[in-house]
Amino acid sequence: MSLEATLPGLDPAMEKEFNPWLAAEARFNEAATLLGLDDGFQKVLKSPAMEVTVHIPVELEDGRLEVFTGYRVQHSIARGPAKGGIRFAPDVTLDEVRALASWMTWKCAVVNIPFGGGKGGVICDPTLLSKNELERITRRYTAALMDVIGPERDVPAPDMNTNEQTMAWIMDTYSMHKRSTVTAVVTGKPLNLGGSRGRVEATGRGCLFVTLQALKKFGLEPSETKIVVQGFGNVGGKAAKLMHQAGMKIIAVVEWDGAVYNPKGIDPEALQKHRQETGSITGYAEAEDMDRFEAMFLPCDVLVPAAKENVIHSKNAAKIQAKIICEGANGPTTAEADQILDEKRIFVIPDILANAGGVTVSYFEWVQDRMGYFWNEEMVNSRLEEIMVNSFQDVVAYGERHKVHNRSAAYMVALDRVAFAIKLRGIYA
Ligand code: NAD
Repeated sequence: MSLEATLPGLDPAMEKEFNPWLAAEARFNEAATLLGLDDGFQKVLKSPAMEVTVHIPVELEDGRLEVFTGYRVQHSIARGPAKGGIRFAPDVTLDEVRALASWMTWKCAVVNIPFGGGKGGVICDPTLLSKNELERITRRYTAALMDVIGPERDVPAPDMNTNEQTMAWIMDTYSMHKRSTVTAVVTGKPLNLGGSRGRVEATGRGCLFVTLQALKKFGLEPSETKIVVQGFGNVGGKAAKLMHQAGMKIIAVVEWDGAVYNPKGIDPEALQKHRQETGSITGYAEAEDMDRFEAMFLPCDVLVPAAKENVIHSKNAAKIQAKIICEGANGPTTAEADQILDEKRIFVIPDILANAGGVTVSYFEWVQDRMGYFWNEEMVNSRLEEIMVNSFQDVVAYGERHKVHNRSAAYMVALDRVAFAIKLRGIYA
């Protein structure tokens, strides 16, 4: 779907504003400058530790041979093994993978888990490939990366168009070469192959935990809180369900094809059922349909953008009437919009903190695999809560101390942790 289709009136001059890599760089530069990091050190922090390109021959169903190109970038291994997903998409580029890998470094650092950042991708169109072809691509890509990935080196996970089946194939291929079962080489595996309980809901649950903390700062009780959720998928759907269970009122849900509104609150599980039956959230009997471009600007306490990047930008940020924004999606707010939200004194829980519940439970999966001892869901959720609450408090306290907004504070906390690790380790010569 093009940006034009999702953002009405997109001006081509805003292309720069919508470039997520420029946005990530702007945030890095701001945080590095505020921290007073010198140029040399900034170079070290910015540069990926390793970039690998592989060209993998695969036999297709019709007997033809095709060569696919795959990447794996380890942006940082200063605090532990690289961690980050693998995506399959026709438009994957090394630049994109590189930027996403650095994003993972900051995300892992902000929640203080002992991982660096990585990302991988294979240029392919999964809609044109059979399951067997996808399996062959995955296995050959894994075999090519045998010396790159590993529980102590680099731990991939699912991302766009990859899933727990993909992770099971990676785990199996890696294990075949190692001559022993190495479950901790990837996370996001099926539960009975070393996956973790609580992983599916982890990102949405993390959003709940940080939102509860933000509500406390505003002196708001969950029962008097009105929520608008954009994107009713894995993150937004689960966040909505859990927030509803915590007593909050989901007054609107926004999807790509429409929005529904009920000031008395919507039951997300019933709405999900309606969507499964009809293919859309619209036409739901317990709520009114409304314009999806207006729903995001309803007066509410918390807006949860959990669909995609760049939905809050310089042309619409002023219309937002939420007190708190909990960024379930990656990069939903442009750097230009940050300034407007800041002027409006909207309390933003930035993506690298708000949606880090997923990678945190991936970390728990890796820990459980290495122990060979698995936790019940209660244990996973309570440990997730502890990490999300502590990280929220670290970021907010840092922001208050240094008089910067939460996003800058989150980047500063993250950069500071990675920089400190590099300084302690020293520059090996
Ligand atoms: P998903 O595909 O399960 O859900 C996305 C939902 O948003 C879908 O229902 C889709 O129809 C909807 N959508 C797409 N465009 C929209 C638009 N313009 N307006 C309204 N709704 C729209 O994806 P997901 O896993 O929930 O991921 C959502 C975001 O969260 C992405 O930015 C992703 O990178 C980020 N994220 C996901 C995880 C995770 O664990 N899944 C972790 C961290 C960050």
